[in-house]
Amino acid sequence: MTETPIQADYLVVGAGAAGMAFADQLLTDSAATIAIVDRRHRPGGHWNDAYPFVRLHQPSSNYGVNSRQLGSGGKDTAGFNAGLDELASGAEVVSYFENVLQQRLLPSGRVRFFPMSEYTEDGMVESRLSGARRPVSVGKVVDATCYSPKIPATNPPQYAVADGLIFAPINDLPRLARPGASYTVIGAGKTGMDACLWLLQNGAEADRIRWIVPRDSWMLDRANFQTGPGTLVTTLRYLADEVEAIVEADSVDDVFLRLEAKGALLRLDPAVTPRLHHCATVTRGELAALRQIAKIVRLGRVQRIERDRIVLDHGEVPTDDATIHIDCSASAIVHPEKRPVFEPGRINLQCLRLCQPVFSAALIGHVEAANADDGQKNALCQPMDYPSDPLGWLRMMSQELPARIRWAQHPDIAAFNAACRLDSVAPRAAQLQPGDTAELAEIDRLEANIGPAIEKLQILLATA
Ligand SMILES: Cc1cc2nc3c(=O)[nH]c(=O)nc-3n(C[C@H](O)[C@H](O)[C@H](O)COP(=O)(O)OP(=O)(O)OC[C@H]3O[C@@H](n4cnc5c(N)ncnc54)[C@H](O)[C@@H]3O)c2cc1C
Repeated sequence: MTETPIQADYLVVGAGAAGMAFADQLLTDSAATIAIVDRRHRPGGHWNDAYPFVRLHQPSSNYGVNSRQLGSGGKDTAGFNAGLDELASGAEVVSYFENVLQQRLLPSGRVRFFPMSEYTEDGMVESRLSGARRPVSVGKVVDATCYSPKIPATNPPQYAVADGLIFAPINDLPRLARPGASYTVIGAGKTGMDACLWLLQNGAEADRIRWIVPRDSWMLDRANFQTGPGTLVTTLRYLADEVEAIVEADSVDDVFLRLEAKGALLRLDPAVTPRLHHCATVTRGELAALRQIAKIVRLGRVQRIERDRIVLDHGEVPTDDATIHIDCSASAIVHPEKRPVFEPGRINLQCLRLCQPVFSAALIGHVEAANADDGQKNALCQPMDYPSDPLGWLRMMSQELPARIRWAQHPDIAAFNAACRLDSVAPRAAQLQPGDTAELAEIDRLEANIGPAIEKLQILLATA
């Protein structure tokens, strides 16, 4: 059955954080009409399926859509994040996006939302309930699915598990009916860290937890990314340290050792060189808790779990039916092939700045509204290679640092950044006064090192 076409200036495919941040910014900066489709029943994307104890990994104050604050702007008072900017829970994030839709996008009269609707490969919108297929008649299709993360709840593990074992995705942890003799957490990304921390916080002793860590990660210290009064200098120091470490380093590994020495990066075990770096963010309290876990298995990825043993890439460890196996192995970070952001009739939302998908989506919305020429727009919006390892992080820096210069020199983008709540630095830096000497000194150090860092990155990447 074919129905009447969906008509709009833009069809946004995906009502996750990226699609919502883009639509919100386009609504602010243009008179366009927007249709948003999502195969889920409400906006918020993967947050709808996240584990019950998930929280944002970054302060709420810089997440969501540009036009509306997320959270109260206060600090957490309990738990590992106590004293730092609040981190919204998954439920809060979902409710926030629902409110953005119901209270901002739909009342504008320019946005329509099509839930439970699949955008199909042949360019139709198909209802997942009725099966009705609607053609689209739109100016541009906006792909807001490029960085859609894989999460354990919706991605079964890539390894086989023998019958009779207790095996659960992280989402099922709070529903466990009886205690395990021991807990084996599989996966060492941020999700695996969250599982370990949840177990420790909820009464599982550290010596009953075994953690399968295929690769160790470099981690960011959340204290460096706070937004309250007096915290800007710390973030600026972090940014200046970052470029200075690149300039001073003799090799890729040396960059990271210098960053660690400056307090910009953390790792689980000082004796193990991390081979992952994808913006996992922790507090020092969380790190101290994770370090209580002594049973760390570093034998690569799990290949299969048999009744009495876990077979990994480089060896095996025993297991049994009294052990609770917790799957955290889905890779939240995806690495799609980069495409131009602006193509004829199409916009591909991608990251323009390190690990900042919502800021990037809002900026793309602004650039789309403010400029006509795709060539100009693409020059301003060059997608990053999302990092997964230390070398990838340097490659990303080699792309991001020139972008920072381009944006600072472009009056419209500079003004956008200085007013954008999703940017954790520019709005506060724009308010600095001559008496803010500590902050201004860090900005000077940062600016003095950006050019040399760009040159050094070429050398480090060429020789790596
Ligand atoms: C546990 C966790 C914590 C995180 N914490 C942070 C954080 O603190 N800060 C941060 O910046 N990032 C964080 N991230 C990264 C996260 O990826 C982004 O913040 C953001 O939520 C990604 O949103 P998205 O819109 O790209 O993808 P999604 O949330 O996956 O949304 C994409 C949407 O597109 C829909 N869709 C896909 N294909 C189709 C189709 N063909 N037709 C219709 N609909 C379709 C899907 O149903 C989905 O709703 C976190 C990720 C995880 C997993």
